[in-house]
Amino acid sequence: MEQSSNQAWLARSQAAVWHPCTQMQHHAQTASPAHLPLVPIARGSGAWLYDFDGKRYLDGISSWWTNLFGHANPRINAALKDQLETLEHVMLAGFTHQPVVELSERLAALTGGSLGHAFYASDGASATEIALKMSFHYWRNVGRREKAEFLCLAGSYHGETVGALAVTDVALFKDAYAPLVRHATVVPSPDFRLAEAGESPADVARRAAAALEAHLERHGERTAALIVEPLIQGAAGMAMYDPEYLRLARALCDQYEVHLICDEIAVGCGRTGTFFAHEQAAIRPDLMCLSKGISGGYLPLSIVLSSDTIYEAFLDDSVARAFLHSHSYTGNPLACRAALATLDIFAEDNVLAENQGKAARIGAALAPLAELPQVSHLRQHGMIAAFDVATADPYFSRKFYRAALDREALIRPIGNTVYLMPPYIVGDEEIARLGAAVRGALDAACAPGF
Ligand SMILES: *Cc1c(COP(=O)(O)O)cnc(C)c1O
Repeated sequence: MEQSSNQAWLARSQAAVWHPCTQMQHHAQTASPAHLPLVPIARGSGAWLYDFDGKRYLDGISSWWTNLFGHANPRINAALKDQLETLEHVMLAGFTHQPVVELSERLAALTGGSLGHAFYASDGASATEIALKMSFHYWRNVGRREKAEFLCLAGSYHGETVGALAVTDVALFKDAYAPLVRHATVVPSPDFRLAEAGESPADVARRAAAALEAHLERHGERTAALIVEPLIQGAAGMAMYDPEYLRLARALCDQYEVHLICDEIAVGCGRTGTFFAHEQAAIRPDLMCLSKGISGGYLPLSIVLSSDTIYEAFLDDSVARAFLHSHSYTGNPLACRAALATLDIFAEDNVLAENQGKAARIGAALAPLAELPQVSHLRQHGMIAAFDVATADPYFSRKFYRAALDREALIRPIGNTVYLMPPYIVGDEEIARLGAAVRGALDAACAPGF
């Protein structure tokens, strides 16, 4: 059974594992420009991943935006080993435990007490569904059954289960399932790349908010909630926008009695410079979704935080007025403990302040790219930096990906958008390596015949 070469694991994985977000045939087509290499990973340490043949890869995208403090982080490992010896799991219906209580209290404190009720699930899409169901059920419980429509932004991504797809505006993920998916209204994105001549990012935000207002004037009565990815629409290709949009959207949601759901699954946990991205607009959502980085990238965990107003509308003698949603692993102690260890690192290491310096170095590493004719909209917000590449090559993203792997870097563009989103433990030398890998991979991917 012991197999220790890449080739052996590759073949077995291709045969037995149906990989996510992948046309499996592209793994096999090694001679095609469509080829997508499958990389067997033996172990991880810090910002590095190691394969079975002695090759290593610098994790430039935090393993799909989840890993904050490196692979095999000694402090998270120690907490998990301790938890493993104490309590691995217990159902959360009718039972409770130390990690889930402490985590809920600490998250409530991080919201200044405004979102003091934590509901648990395992992945981001489930958190989206929970937030949508809570909003819908809230309006029903308060006798406003007509408020049942959801709004999302153009290009939004909130997960890929059938319920979450309703508010995900990515055709590639959604179109095949259109008949299964509930309708939601898509309102314009405040993406600052949409600026017209003379418009500032704040102007674009005001223009998008005006469109939201026009919609709510006509349909506010029937609208339950607006869901947004605060400051950065990740899967849209790191579309960044001015916090002015969140301020205006918050005011409009108040005016028209619509819940504001902040999906902080990708941008939360310090990614944009504040612990929650929406803090930069000095607003408070009614519901917030967390996942990805909250467990340090260790275990599936998602959380929906809700306001007192929403929570209290479910309190009643009637079971049917309660929020009956559940998952088997809701509030798993190991996952909660990983999250507590992650929050401990934030508290002990002054992470947000340290990240400011790292973000500046990431920006400096990419800055020279702005000179290149094929590069546009070089942009950054905290620990996410991105740029768009002008190319008609349909295989650009995978060519770049392959060229980056050749340069010991895991960097996976979204369409023609290249981005860096490294773990926060990334060091100066590693930042320089990522910068060089981006430059080298860009040159290689754009070269004829690659
Ligand atoms: C990744 C992501 C999700 C979905 O999370 P999964 O755990 O992949 O289901 C939802 N919203 C945003 C903003 C995300 O980036």
